Amino acid sequence: MIKLSFFILGSIIGSFLNVCIYRMPRSESLVKPRSRCVHCQKAIKWYENIPLISYIVLSGKCSACKKPISPRYFIVEFLTAALFVLFYIKFGLTFDLLFFLIMLCGLIVATFIDFEHQLIPDTVSFGGLALGLAVNAFKGRAIFLNSLSGAVIGGLSIYVIGVIGKFIFKKEAMGFGDVKFLAMIGSFLGWEKTLLVFFLAPFFGAPVGLFLKLRHKAETIPYGPYLSLATVVVILWGEKILIKLFYF
Ligand SMILES: [Zn+2]
Repeated sequence: MIKLSFFILGSIIGSFLNVCIYRMPRSESLVKPRSRCVHCQKAIKWYENIPLISYIVLSGKCSACKKPISPRYFIVEFLTAALFVLFYIKFGLTFDLLFFLIMLCGLIVATFIDFEHQLIPDTVSFGGLALGLAVNAFKGRAIFLNSLSGAVIGGLSIYVIGVIGKFIFKKEAMGFGDVKFLAMIGSFLGWEKTLLVFFLAPFFGAPVGLFLKLRHKAETIPYGPYLSLATVVVILWGEKILIKLFYF
C-alpha cells in the first residue's frame, strides 16, 4: 500500500518535473501560467493533466488539435514514479529518503534538459551543491568533509578528463556543465561513491555516444544523462558494488 502511495506521489512529482524540463531552459515561470498545448496553445484542463492516466486516455494527442504530445511526458512520470518506489525500498521512511528523493528530482530534470538542449541548468547544479553540503554539514564534521571532498573530486575528475580530451581531440570534449553537475552529485554521495559514478558513467555513455556519432554525426553528446543513470545505480546498489570491488 505504501509502495503504491510512493508510486502515485512519484507520478505527480514527475508531472511537475515535466513542467520544469520544458520551462527552465526557456526561463519561464514554473508556477504560472497553466500548462498549454505546445502546438495550439489550448490550456490543458485538470482532468487532462492526471499523471500517466491522461496520456493513455488521450492516446498521446492534444484533445483540441490532435497533434502528438511528446512521449517524454509519460516517460518522465513513469520513471519518477518507479524510482520513488525503489528509493523508498532502499531507504525506508527516513530523512535520507527525502534527501535523496530531492536529489533524484534534480537528476531527472537535468537529464531531460541535457538531452534536448545540451545544457544543465545552474539552478540544479549550484542549488543541489548548496543543499548537499548544507544537509551533510548538519550530519556532523566527518560527513561534511566527505561531502566536500566528494564535490571537489567530482568536479575535478570531469575537469581533468575535459583537459585531456581537449588535448587529444583538439576540441571541447566535456562541457563545464558536467563539471558542476558531478560536483553537485559528489556533495550528496561523498568521494568514494562519486568516483564510482565517474568510472561507471562511461559504460552507459560510451555505447550510446558511439551510436549517435555514427548514426547522426552528432557533434556534442550530452553526458549528464549517463552521470545521472550511474548516480541512481550507485545510490541503490553502491555499497554492494564497492564491497565486490574491494573485498573480492
Ligand atoms: Zn493542441
